[in-house]
Amino acid sequence: MTQSSSPAFSLEFFPPRDIAAQERLVRAAKQMLAIQPRYVSVTFGAGGSTRAGTAETVRTLANMGCDAAPHLSCIGASRDQLRDILAQYREAGVRRVVALRGDLPSGMGGDAGELRHAVELVRFIREETGDWFHIEVAAYPEMHPQAISPTADLNHFVAKVQAGADAAITQYFFNPDAYFDFVERARARGVTIPIVPGIMPITNYSQLSRFSEMCGAELPRWIRLRLAEFGDDKASIRAFGQDVVTDLCQNLLDNGAPGLHFYTLNQSEATMGIWKNLQR
Ligand code: FAD
Repeated sequence: MTQSSSPAFSLEFFPPRDIAAQERLVRAAKQMLAIQPRYVSVTFGAGGSTRAGTAETVRTLANMGCDAAPHLSCIGASRDQLRDILAQYREAGVRRVVALRGDLPSGMGGDAGELRHAVELVRFIREETGDWFHIEVAAYPEMHPQAISPTADLNHFVAKVQAGADAAITQYFFNPDAYFDFVERARARGVTIPIVPGIMPITNYSQLSRFSEMCGAELPRWIRLRLAEFGDDKASIRAFGQDVVTDLCQNLLDNGAPGLHFYTLNQSEATMGIWKNLQR
């Protein structure tokens, strides 16, 4: 792999739940404009947020001059609902979406909607809107937790690309070899689209453990042990996290990653710290 000449940074936010959180988000996003993100994205559904919340946050970020992309998940939705949402985004001038399956809250197994997998959503978006949207999809270097095998998961990823995805963002990981291996296997299958590593800053041990458990991302033993040892010492957790994630990002960029997608959790400090370290 060759070194990427100008890495593209992108930032992910989630819709704020109240006015105070909205103000914090705007403040954080303003600070992070220094990164000159290629685009920003806004999650949907995670943590009970609504589609209206996603659209509203996309509007807020677009008004700040960002190319803002809503996440759109198909689980639990009908084709008509998806068609409406796409039409609204199109009317609002949105040109980029992150197309996902999403996750049903537990206990809703029977109501999965009309499209069962993200590949069907990508196909649907292309059928309905042609090339209007730049479509990002998810990729899992350490395998999606529900996949039956790494190869089956890769096959499903390749299918999303063949259905018309323009680029991919990975689930976060702390082991760069998992990313390099995934990219190599995807390239061997003829995938040429950018596969951008998703980067999770480390700021909070219990939250990170919980997220990692849910999404199947491995928190390596040495990182887990170091974080546990810091206990309530938040400053040390942040400093250690900053070093670990900066090294990870540098390694990824030095070895050909086309950019970095930061899961900001609506906070500027950790992402900005990593970005500043990378500028040195
Ligand atoms: P898919 O690509 O459909 O894959 C899901 C599982 O099904 C995988 O195990 C795959 O191997 C398998 N599969 C795929 N196609 C088939 C098939 N045809 N037959 C059988 N099995 C198949 N969640 C949210 O709720 N809101 C968000 O905003 C959000 N943003 C995200 C952003 C990124 C960058 C990432 C990486 C994840 C995000 N998620 C979000 C989480 C995501 O919704 C979950 O990981 C979800 O479980 C899978 O979504 P997917 O689009 O990867 O699904």
